[in-house]
Amino acid sequence: MPERIYNFSPGPSTLPYSVLEQAARDIVNYRDRGIGLIELSHRSKEFMAVAEETEALVRENMNVPDNYKILFLQGGASSQFYMIPMNFLAGGGKKATYINTGTWSKKAIREARLFGAIDVAYSSEDTTFNRVPSTGEYTVDPASEYLYFVSNNTIYGTQFKSFPETDTLLVCDMSSDILSRRVDVSRFGLIFAGAQKNMGPAGVTIVIIRDDLLDRGDDSIPTMLRYKTHADKGSMFNTPPCFAIYCVGEVMKWLKNNGGVAAMERINNEKASLVYDAIDATDFYRGHAEVGSRSMMNISFNLPTAELEAKFIAEAAAIGLDGLKGHRSIGGCRASIYNAFPRDGVVRLVEFMAEFAAKNS
Ligand SMILES: *Cc1c(COP(=O)(O)O)cnc(C)c1O
Repeated sequence: MPERIYNFSPGPSTLPYSVLEQAARDIVNYRDRGIGLIELSHRSKEFMAVAEETEALVRENMNVPDNYKILFLQGGASSQFYMIPMNFLAGGGKKATYINTGTWSKKAIREARLFGAIDVAYSSEDTTFNRVPSTGEYTVDPASEYLYFVSNNTIYGTQFKSFPETDTLLVCDMSSDILSRRVDVSRFGLIFAGAQKNMGPAGVTIVIIRDDLLDRGDDSIPTMLRYKTHADKGSMFNTPPCFAIYCVGEVMKWLKNNGGVAAMERINNEKASLVYDAIDATDFYRGHAEVGSRSMMNISFNLPTAELEAKFIAEAAAIGLDGLKGHRSIGGCRASIYNAFPRDGVVRLVEFMAEFAAKNS
């Protein structure tokens, strides 16, 4: 294996090296069939088998009940911001409730308002989205068709430790923490995630939707934007993002062979604790998130000055710790440590943090 840098990028993000190697071989010559993976017809028996296996592995790894469909869609996670209200508020005169915990929920709220009455039951915007609420901190109008939240806020580095307790249908954007911890899928009506954080390359968005919700959309919705269209055709209504689906399948095999989601959860907790301990060890570093809302996937933190932050990011990059620059909306630094991010890289980061603080404080 060549010298690889540690890639702390928030997404697209680091993937298991074994998956990259397998994909590189399969692109050129898929399983010795004399044809490249990305040249295969999506209706060929080879690719149909890839898609079926990927679906089965997502289902197995996440323990998705039989009464849920798993869809492979395009348009990114952002397309779900309008597809959800378009389908669930179809017919007009309907409402939904949103929890606003960052950039991604704000964008989703903006789109949802095009389709119905949107109640924002909670917002942490006035404290720069440094926390997520617990269930008692907001109320959900019983007339709401669904309650929407973002389980992990990729930019601000906050995460729901427990999910909203409600009788309202739960809809969740899990783009940046899907498969990072055990989740009881049966509590949700719909879960979606862009693959490029924790499941594979950019290009496919996974939607897990309960069967009985497929009929919520009506004929006024463009065909491609109805969940039912894709569910009825097993995500093969039109050409799906074949390569991205294949890669998700390979990542699912890697995850399963490495102990599954339960093992990922344990390792993710360990990795994140290493970084949070380094932040808490000195006054030099300041975590953005309130302690009770800290994300295990994206750790946003600040140094005493913007100049020191720039120096920190540059010096880290010079020793192979790449992608530590925070999102432009809050600045500072951010370490994204998804499932495939190696523990060694986290150890290297916390060593560097200690050295840098000692030299510069
Ligand atoms: C990255 C991200 C998105 C947007 O994903 P795209 O595939 O780029 O549209 C949405 N929600 C969350 C939580 C994200 O981290």
